[in-house]
Amino acid sequence: MKTIGLIGGMSWESSLLYYQIINQVVKKKLGGHHSAKSLMYSVDFHEIKTLQHEGNWPEATRIMVEAAQKLKAGGADLLVICTNTMHKMAQEVEQAVSIPLLHIADATALEIVKDGIQKVALLGTAFTMEQDFYKGRLTQKYGLEVMVPNEVDRAVVHDIIYEELCLGIKKEESKQAYIKIIDDLVQNGAEAVILGCTEITLLISQADCNIPVYDTTRIHAESAVEFALGVIKF
Ligand code: GLU
Repeated sequence: MKTIGLIGGMSWESSLLYYQIINQVVKKKLGGHHSAKSLMYSVDFHEIKTLQHEGNWPEATRIMVEAAQKLKAGGADLLVICTNTMHKMAQEVEQAVSIPLLHIADATALEIVKDGIQKVALLGTAFTMEQDFYKGRLTQKYGLEVMVPNEVDRAVVHDIIYEELCLGIKKEESKQAYIKIIDDLVQNGAEAVILGCTEITLLISQADCNIPVYDTTRIHAESAVEFALGVIKF
């Protein structure tokens, strides 16, 4: 079994899920007392959130690269960045270390393509919904058509992530707001929705939607185990 190196803390609410899912999947696959070999480097999310919102991406990249190097030095065989947003600097992180990075958008897109879905809605932070590092990968590498909410709804989705979910706060009104936004995207032709932020799964599940829901936290964590166990190879 390979050692999974997790860059976590963005936020720790979702890193907790990664740790739990990864170990649950290893237990299910190998049985008994088996558990995942892993290391987590967990950042101070206050620092990251501040840098993101100031647009100081070079400093945020430096922190991510340093985290990856520390995980590699600690014995990690592969890297998992436990957030969609911080895949903005995935390339720089991957180039700074000699171990492979399991990209969250690749893991997610492979499931969507396998299910024959073409037009998919994407919910996440404003950075993820508006910039090209994530949407571009889905469209250019996998041929998916990606829809995002309108400007007002994007702000609602973004603010609920940072002001509530990353702080462990779950509100029924926020859940209803997300469901309404997803419904509007379905009206406009979305066949499925990507929960493209690793905390959204704390609020929304498949049971809340009548289209397929792609939970990036679960998909990414499960696929990390498949790589660690050699079921899938880079
Ligand atoms: N965990 C979130 C994501 O998947 C947002 C927090 C962050 O900015 O990293 O994008």
